Amino acid sequence: MRPEFERILIKLSGEALMGDQGFGIKPEMINYVAEEIAQVHALGVQVSMVVGGGNIFRGVAGSSAGMDRASADNMGMLATVINSLALCDALEKHGVPTRVQSAIVMNQVAEPFIRRRAIRHLEKGRAVVFAAGTGNPYFTTDTAAVLRAQEMNAQILFKATKVDGVYDKDPALYRDASFIKKISYMEVLEQQLHVMDMTAISLAMDNNLPLQVFDLNQRGSIIGAVCGNGVGTRIYS
Ligand code: UDP
Repeated sequence: MRPEFERILIKLSGEALMGDQGFGIKPEMINYVAEEIAQVHALGVQVSMVVGGGNIFRGVAGSSAGMDRASADNMGMLATVINSLALCDALEKHGVPTRVQSAIVMNQVAEPFIRRRAIRHLEKGRAVVFAAGTGNPYFTTDTAAVLRAQEMNAQILFKATKVDGVYDKDPALYRDASFIKKISYMEVLEQQLHVMDMTAISLAMDNNLPLQVFDLNQRGSIIGAVCGNGVGTRIYS
């Protein structure tokens, strides 16, 4: 298989790590994710990642339960650090040298986010996991993924999720929902399709960062996407 990209960023939702559990990290699931990513790394592709935290804590949930939103978001960001450390551990078990860089400084557990150092890791063949989102409340890890992808000069951002791509309406609710193979950023924004949050989509649009959304649970989907087999939905200008 020949990769179509030299440097990529993969966004994994926190929920992707929890499998069929209601909470937390399922060992089989994180092992599966690491295996899938290791295949891509073995092709010589420079792999960076952003992981969400929804399997542990979401700021919005905390604030709707009465917490101060910024404090709840800080908790959400810490949840992404837990996931990033778990992903790093699983990747290393599959022979992928990995570094975690956190947007919130915690030197004892992760490197601080330093853009040029992250690029150097990638050039040396280390996979880099970006933890703690953007480091700011009121943002999501989707936005963090778009931001880091651009900072890394990644050629594309892959959003590996639990649906096989973008639909014109929620396929879980509407049986006549139709699958969309290619769509522009503007159409996603205008139709308010829930691919990523609006901030993430507009940031990608402003900088022309191609996005591809596909189902992580389909074995071989990440390597397939990297080799340009057209899996999922492509979003571009
Ligand atoms: N978060 C934040 N700033 C960021 C990224 C994330 O405050 O830049 C917080 C926010 O509370 C969010 C939580 O971290 O709910 C977990 O991230 P997200 O919901 O994006 O995770 P996912 O849905 O991908 O699992």
